[in-house]
Amino acid sequence: MATYEKLPLVQPSAQNPHSTTISKRRRVPLLAILSLSALALLWSNRVFGIFHEREKPHALPLAAQCPQVDPLLPQRQTDALTLMEKYLESSAFRHETIARMAGAVQIPTQSFDDMGPIGEDPRWDTMYELAAYFEHKFPLVHKTLKLEKVNTHGLLYTWQGSDKDLKPTILMAHQDVVPVAESTIGQWTHPPFSGYYDGESVWGRGSSDCKNLLVATLEAVELLVKAGFTPQRTLVLSFGFDEETLGEGDGAAIIVDEGAGLANAFGATFATPAVGEKGMIDVEVTVRMPGGHSSIPPPHNGIGVMSEFITLVEANLYEPHFHSENPFLGLLQCGAAHGPDFPPEWKKLLGSGTTISTKNKEKLAKEVAKFSDEFKYLFTTSVAVDIISGGVKSNALPERTTALINHRVNVGDSSSDVQTKMTKLASSIAKKYNLTLHAFDDEAETPSSISLKSPSTLDPAPVTPTEVDSVTPYSVLSGTTRALYDEDIIMAPGLSTGNTDTMYYWDLTRHIFRYQGGWDPKQQGLGNIHTVDEHISVLAHINTVRWISTLVRNMDEASLP
Ligand SMILES: [Zn+2]
Repeated sequence: MATYEKLPLVQPSAQNPHSTTISKRRRVPLLAILSLSALALLWSNRVFGIFHEREKPHALPLAAQCPQVDPLLPQRQTDALTLMEKYLESSAFRHETIARMAGAVQIPTQSFDDMGPIGEDPRWDTMYELAAYFEHKFPLVHKTLKLEKVNTHGLLYTWQGSDKDLKPTILMAHQDVVPVAESTIGQWTHPPFSGYYDGESVWGRGSSDCKNLLVATLEAVELLVKAGFTPQRTLVLSFGFDEETLGEGDGAAIIVDEGAGLANAFGATFATPAVGEKGMIDVEVTVRMPGGHSSIPPPHNGIGVMSEFITLVEANLYEPHFHSENPFLGLLQCGAAHGPDFPPEWKKLLGSGTTISTKNKEKLAKEVAKFSDEFKYLFTTSVAVDIISGGVKSNALPERTTALINHRVNVGDSSSDVQTKMTKLASSIAKKYNLTLHAFDDEAETPSSISLKSPSTLDPAPVTPTEVDSVTPYSVLSGTTRALYDEDIIMAPGLSTGNTDTMYYWDLTRHIFRYQGGWDPKQQGLGNIHTVDEHISVLAHINTVRWISTLVRNMDEASLP
C-alpha cells in the first residue's frame, strides 16, 4: 500500500489479497498517520445543542458547510475513572500494553484463500489460541461481559447496560490477519510474528491491521470494568474472523469498525471517519466459439473476440461524477472551509452556498480527478480486468475463453448500472460475431455465445448521516476525537473504496463509521499494512485505547436512542 504524501485523505481499496468473493472479508487499511502540520487554522464554529458558543472573529464563508463540534468529555466522573485516565498515560501502562500487543501479534491467525472448513483445516486452530490468550489477558472482560462464539471463532461480547431502551454501541475488529508470503519472510526487518518492540513501535503482521484495534478495545473495556464503570447503554464487541459474526439485532446506536484515521491535507489535520463505502461487482465474461485445428482458423476466434470486448470495455470507462450524497464532496467542502492550502480553483467551483450547480459539480469532478487516481476513484466507478484465460494447446482453437472484470461502484450508482453498461457493450460484440448473448440471466452457456454473470455484487453502502445540529452519533464521535487531541483537528466525512465487515450490519443502523481514533502525530506513513514490515506506533495504540474508552463513556451519556 502506498503512502499518499501530498493529500493523504484517501483510503485506498486494500481488500485482503486472497479474497475473491463477497463472503470473504475485504480489508480496509488504516489511513496514513502522518505528521501534524503546525498551521493554525482560523475557523468558525457553529453552536449546536449541548456545545457552547465560540467566538467567530474570522469566520470563513465556507465554515458553515463543515461545522465542527466542541470537544466532548464524559461528565460522569469518579475517582477511579480519573485514576484510569492517568494510568492510561503512564509508563506502567505503556509497558503492559506493549507486552499484550506483542503477545497477540505472535499468534499467527493468518487466513488463507483456500481455507477448508473449520474443524477440518487445522490452519483455523490459531483462532482458538487467540481466544484463549484474550481470556488469560483480560480476565475482567471475561468475568463481566457475556461471550458468545459465533461460527466457532467469531467472538461476540455483550456488556449489558442498565437501560434496556438504549440501543447498543457496537465496536468491531477482525481477528485474522493477511498471510505472510513465504518468499517475503526474509525481507522483514523483524520476523513477521515476532511482535518485536523497537522502542517506538511493535512490529509484525497484524500489528496495525488490526490486532491493535482488537487489543485496544479489550484494554479499554478491561480498564473500564476495573474502574467500576457500569454502562447504561449496552456495549457489544464483535470480533469476526472471516465471515459474518454478529447475529440479528434490534438495531444499534452506532457501529465503529476499522478504517481511516487522522492525516494532514490542505495544510490542516483532518480526521476522516469513513461514512460510506463504494460498491463492488465482479463480472465474469465467457466467450464460447467453435474449436478446431489451428491450421485452418477463422479470422477471429474466442480469444480474439474476448480481446475485442475487453478493448471496448476499456474504451468506455466511467466518467468521474459527484452524486450529491457522495461523502467525498463533503470532505472537499471541509478542505475548502478549513484547509489554508486547499486549491483555490476547487474552492471557487465549490462556491459558498450549500448546493453546487450541476455544471460546477461536473467541472469540479474533472479537475479533482486530474489530480490523482486515488482521488478520482472516490467518485468514479472503477473497471479492472483482473483475470483472463482461454486456450489449452498450440494446435487447437480456444472453445471457451473467460475473463473477470472487477468494478468498484461509485456512491450514488448501483451494481445494476454496471450490468446494464456491460450488457450494452457485449451485445454489440455479440451482434458483430453472430453470437447469442446471455446477460446476467442465469442461463447455461450455449455454443457460440457470450455469457455475463456476476458472482458477487455489493451496492454502495448507505451513507452515514453527518449532521451535528443536535446530538448525533457523528457529533459524539467527532467530539471524542477533538477532546483527545486538539481542537485544531478538523472532522470531515471520509469514504472507503474497499469494503469492511460492516456490510453485514447495514440493517442494524445507518450510523456506521469505519474509523480508527488512535493517532501518533509523529508517525510517518501507514505502518506497512498488507506488506512486509507492518508495525504500529505504541503511542497510536495507546491513543486508540484512550479514544475507545472515552467514546464508550460519551455514548453512554449521550441523549441518543
Ligand atoms: Zn483490517
